[in-house]
Amino acid sequence: MLQFPSFDSAIASVPGMGQPEPWQLDQMNKFRPKGMKPYTADQMVSVPMLASHNLMSFSNGVWDDQSIESMAAFFPGKPMNLNHSWEDVQQNVGFVYSAYAIQTPDAPVNILNAADYFDINRSIVANHGFQFLLTYAAFPADSPAVNAIGYGMAKDVSTGGITDSTMICPLCDGEFFTDECDGHMPPHPMLLFFLGDEEGIDWAPYYIRAGFHTAVELTLCVSGNLPGAEVLTEPEEAGDPVEEEAGQAIGLQVIR
Ligand SMILES: [Zn+2]
Repeated sequence: MLQFPSFDSAIASVPGMGQPEPWQLDQMNKFRPKGMKPYTADQMVSVPMLASHNLMSFSNGVWDDQSIESMAAFFPGKPMNLNHSWEDVQQNVGFVYSAYAIQTPDAPVNILNAADYFDINRSIVANHGFQFLLTYAAFPADSPAVNAIGYGMAKDVSTGGITDSTMICPLCDGEFFTDECDGHMPPHPMLLFFLGDEEGIDWAPYYIRAGFHTAVELTLCVSGNLPGAEVLTEPEEAGDPVEEEAGQAIGLQVIR
């Protein structure tokens, strides 16, 4: 996990959307088919994405640090897909050529406060830092996907992978439904659907997704399951009064 002193400092050095820099082109060319002429910079567009992180998803789960590390190891070379279309290769519009697991002591406000998860997210950041997956995707310069991303029509991203569905209880630090957990119930949407009205169930505040994970594809979609997983956007100007007021309104400072 690469460490940076702040989220902004981690993002500051990330090359934005556009023609790849020489090191980026070298990375892309590692994945071209044998015999294919090397890609040139003017043929390709690179797009940086915050593809995953360790804060709350809309389905009440978080990734553990090993899952984020595993994504960084296995995403390079995997396709950039549309709408998690695992059964249609024509929905592949590019490929991930580089990925990094990064840890910072602070997290962006929009992710911390997403879906009213501020308290849980703040405690995760306090204990583990903000861990996120930075991916770079390569697209043919003339791909419609480049236009869609460039004009904000495609923005959210979502990871597609295979897991063994291990869920860890954050209260007991052990696996749910085993001796390691003191009878808590993971608030998975499926369990909430069937058991949400039952009395006497000791719901954990969230569940930690751990265990085996391997990357399959990264997808552009209308709305992903992980708040803030998206194409990186231009940062706000430093000292923007609107941003400062918004931060103060929820008492947000850099959280360590
Ligand atoms: Zn438990």
